Amino acid sequence: MALIVQKFGGTSVANPERIKNVASRVQEYRSRGDQVVVVVSAMSGVTDNLLKLAREIMPIPSDRELDMLLATGEQTTIALTAMALHTLGLGAVSLTGAQAGIVTDGVHTKAKIRNITPRQVHDLLDAGNVVIVAGFQGQTTDGHITTLGRGGSDLTAIAMASALHADLCQIYTDVDGVYTADPRIVANARKLDEISYDEMLELAGSGAKVMQSRSVEFAKKFGVIFEVRSSLNNNPGTLVKEETQSMEDVVIRGVSLDKNQAKVTLVAVPDKPGVAARIFKALADAAVNVDMIVQNVSHDSDSRATDLSFTMDKPDLPKATRVIDSLKPEIGFASAISDEDIAKLSIVGVGMRSHSGVAAKMFETLSSNDVNIEMISTSEIKISVVISLGKCETAMKAVHSAFLET
Ligand code: ASP
Ligand code: MG
Repeated sequence: MALIVQKFGGTSVANPERIKNVASRVQEYRSRGDQVVVVVSAMSGVTDNLLKLAREIMPIPSDRELDMLLATGEQTTIALTAMALHTLGLGAVSLTGAQAGIVTDGVHTKAKIRNITPRQVHDLLDAGNVVIVAGFQGQTTDGHITTLGRGGSDLTAIAMASALHADLCQIYTDVDGVYTADPRIVANARKLDEISYDEMLELAGSGAKVMQSRSVEFAKKFGVIFEVRSSLNNNPGTLVKEETQSMEDVVIRGVSLDKNQAKVTLVAVPDKPGVAARIFKALADAAVNVDMIVQNVSHDSDSRATDLSFTMDKPDLPKATRVIDSLKPEIGFASAISDEDIAKLSIVGVGMRSHSGVAAKMFETLSSNDVNIEMISTSEIKISVVISLGKCETAMKAVHSAFLET
């Protein structure tokens, strides 16, 4: 007998039919004798609608009241899921985050889990029930309802699996698992059997969004192995776990593309101490989340000026330009050029650590496809390049084919 945590996202509980489908899947595991804890999201679209409702009352509602409101989305699904299990003759009890013992800090709308005391969950499981826990929510020590940030049901599931010492944690979603590339762009993309936490995090940070990154970080920290799989079929999914020796045999695990990027280049910035600090402090103060930064060497030793480029998410570009314009008198660069027609293409794999020539192969592939590289950045297990938006899908297919289609 195993203890299994199964998380179902918004699309998996989108309507009564899907909820009944979830119930049948839970029944399969129950009939094998497993204990099952189910974590559910709000039905798809519900959280967005609640947010919209709130904004129709006032533009910037209180975060505490938003949490009170948003938590109802998940509360609807837990009750409906329990009912669906009852129709199958199974014992099932729904619990709010608070009832499941999830204690958070008091930062409303993006609370962090402090601890979990799942006493009621254990008692109900021991009495033969399926326990259905509302995702995305918790409670402060003084009893205020909180939520964990958008996509937070993933975190609820991972944290519950950790607190319950579950044997297995399954994240059910509307895709079959983690792919070598977005199958909507790369027809030859393959589903991965396994991936390491770090690779999953790097892919997510590079535009491939399967799960909330915070949940993957949490899973890594507490060693929770989980499987990402589809609730719409019975295909095995992708196992996400600590890196193993054999994972290094594969040079590249996946390719990702982020089209939501913009770039600013400051031309002829004075090359002296404190300038970069001043620029990036001002951007940080304006909550612009800077990603890549490239500074060239000085043009010539007399003028002591350099070009400085950085990238950010596209929606942050107006804020960034405002900041840069306001700094111009003080810093005295020649001009600022912004560019929205860029994309970030990344290759990720722990095998990069032990294989050489990976960057060269990527750059050669790009050049033979006539794709110019505007910026490069690397981590131990990732190489990212900024290229033109117009060529990014061609580039992605070419790079995928070079590394992952043999
Ligand atoms: N319902 C919440 C959201 O839409 C939490 C989740 O789905 O994980 O963000
Ligand atoms: Mg969701």
